[in-house]
Amino acid sequence: YLAMSIIADDNDFEKPKIEKKNPVVKPEAVDCDKNFENCIRPKSFDTYIGQSALKDTLKITIKAAQKREKPLDHLLFYGPPGLGKTTLAGVIAQEMGVEIKITSAPALERPRDIIGILMSLQGGEILFIDEIHRLNKVAEEILYPAMEDFYLDMTTGKSQTVKTLRVPLPKFTLIGATTKAGELSGPLRDRFGIIHRLEFYTDEELAQVIKRTAGILEIEIDEKGALAIARRSRGTPRIANRLVKRVSDYALVKHDGKITEDIANKSLDILKIDEFGLDTTDRCLLKLIIEKYEGGPVGIETIAAAIGEDVRTLEDVCEPFLLQAGLLQRTPRGRKVSPAGYRHLGYKTGKFDTNQQTLF
Ligand code: ADP
Repeated sequence: YLAMSIIADDNDFEKPKIEKKNPVVKPEAVDCDKNFENCIRPKSFDTYIGQSALKDTLKITIKAAQKREKPLDHLLFYGPPGLGKTTLAGVIAQEMGVEIKITSAPALERPRDIIGILMSLQGGEILFIDEIHRLNKVAEEILYPAMEDFYLDMTTGKSQTVKTLRVPLPKFTLIGATTKAGELSGPLRDRFGIIHRLEFYTDEELAQVIKRTAGILEIEIDEKGALAIARRSRGTPRIANRLVKRVSDYALVKHDGKITEDIANKSLDILKIDEFGLDTTDRCLLKLIIEKYEGGPVGIETIAAAIGEDVRTLEDVCEPFLLQAGLLQRTPRGRKVSPAGYRHLGYKTGKFDTNQQTLF
């Protein structure tokens, strides 16, 4: 790859600056009505709840980098959506006292997109690339020397007038996030010094997330109300935060605005979110496998077509929690509903019997 060159036309090379519609977003002070997610995002390790083992490791890594006065090693975070990968990258930037630029792989389609961003970085800054498993080959190859030795290899001009240039880059830290670590190419994965998985949160941790968010949004909630929402949030802070807002709407319209256990349970029942946090799509998926495919195994494409969802949504959003909760199993021949999945949906046996009454 060292010999690799990027065929950039003169225009590309002379104007490596970021264009107006460049996908880089800088975090900034935000208005909660306009940007709910950013408003409630924790900015420091103290307010970032849970993931204690990971936080401890990162604190040491950050202190060591600061003592050495060097940028952090490149980091890769993986795990299902909504567990706090982007938030953690922001926390790291804050703790390091550096700027972070946030983008995502699908926005880096053309070589000039990634070149522009890399050349706009200042020394020590963090570049966060979400969904990094979706980077295309060319962008990946541009990243290799940038990550490893902090330079870009570029060629400019055409045929006989072609010139190769090695452009140095400031030392930066790349933080990649992915929901599918397995889809990352080996060479890219190897260039990350630190690789961490984010875990699902416990109900108690989610209750803390919920109380913190309620505090920011000035929503009144008691301990049991927070736990009731936490239990149905699929171990995921993003879902917990979304549900607080929905339950608060219900509490405001039907009662005095305060969220209690009873109000939380009633409103989540109305939203058809069950006691495991499963929504209509999850139950539909399990029910389909049980009733139409005798519990599986059945391929994900078949399931997606049958319930009218796209494969990526099922794989990234629905499945991780169903697998973790032990309701669904992944086999080489497809997905299978586990005995716990049968029980959860109210089926009595491991095999679906057409005379059996379901809960639906
Ligand atoms: P990901 O990048 O993994 O998809 P995000 O970092 O965007 O997830 O997090 C989703 C939302 O959940 C954020 O708005 C943030 O407020 C909240 N969140 C995530 N992790 C935590 C945490 N550890 N503590 C408190 N809130 C969190």
